[in-house]
Amino acid sequence: MKRFVSMEEISDGRLYNLNDMVKADCHDCVGCSKCCHDMVDTIILSPIDAYYLSKGLGRPFRELIEKEVALRVVDGVILPNMKMTADRNCCAFLDEQGRCSIHPFRPDLCRLFPLGRYYENGDFRYFLQTGQCDHPRTKVKVGKWIDTPDPAAHREYVLRWHDLLKRAEEILENSEDEELNHNLNMAVLNVFYMTPYRTDEDFYEQFALRAEKIESVIRE
Ligand code: SF4
Ligand code: SF4
Repeated sequence: MKRFVSMEEISDGRLYNLNDMVKADCHDCVGCSKCCHDMVDTIILSPIDAYYLSKGLGRPFRELIEKEVALRVVDGVILPNMKMTADRNCCAFLDEQGRCSIHPFRPDLCRLFPLGRYYENGDFRYFLQTGQCDHPRTKVKVGKWIDTPDPAAHREYVLRWHDLLKRAEEILENSEDEELNHNLNMAVLNVFYMTPYRTDEDFYEQFALRAEKIESVIRE
């Protein structure tokens, strides 16, 4: 999602790598669930989230649409996001005790928070979002905080997905051919989210095959 703000406005002004220490450790969020409330439609889900949610919950991702997940247009592309409940205005996976009921397979954005990714020159680094989490925090290594298995494969995936989305956005922003736009949007949605993943197999290989398919459509 594009954000038209300066880094000075939203961060501590520093960029971090996986081995850097950052003041992000909010100690298991004890007594706080602020960033699971009132998030409207900003917790955008990426293909790896569709895979892990489906694997963790034992349900195809498409079954989550409507109840726990909603769809919306983000910079021209239709993408899923965590839906806020009507009664509590929080993520549907936040339990009555204010804890994340899907913590081991929570989405990538939740895993990162209060960090974000800053993309430049075909790569990315991390930044610490300020004004978001006011819980007492201590320093932690970025890689430890994110706690994602196989960081190299994950990095490659994040960059490829980012690049693919950027190219899809450019096409959708510049084309007035409604049919082409509709077909591209449906292809992205179906290929990366609605077509079930084989959850007993590696995600990254499946993603690479699916990305090739869409990249060939985008190149045409
Ligand atoms: S605001 Fe900070 S402490 Fe509260 S739930 Fe979010 S990350 Fe955890
Ligand atoms: S998935 Fe978990 S951490 Fe993320 S918003 Fe929902 S309850 Fe909070």
